[in-house]
Amino acid sequence: MPCQHVTVPGAGAAIVCSPTRRCACGKRATLQCDWKVPTRRSGTCDRYICSSCTTSPAPDKDLCKEHGAAWAEWQARR
Ligand SMILES: [Zn+2]
Ligand SMILES: [Zn+2]
Repeated sequence: MPCQHVTVPGAGAAIVCSPTRRCACGKRATLQCDWKVPTRRSGTCDRYICSSCTTSPAPDKDLCKEHGAAWAEWQARR
């Protein structure tokens, strides 16, 4: 949802643009990293990633490049 037409009472129509989130590769990011990061307030990494850069360890879970590598390493150690 990059830009949205909204009607502001008293001010008429306005266009509100939310900043486009980009993946590290430059593509538009449609996903966020779900890796658990306890130090973050949200509890997860939340890095914006595109559908071609994601690592998906489970349905509805996505990992950024860095955490995809961490996930692969963790799996290899099991
Ligand atoms: Zn990407
Ligand atoms: Zn991440």
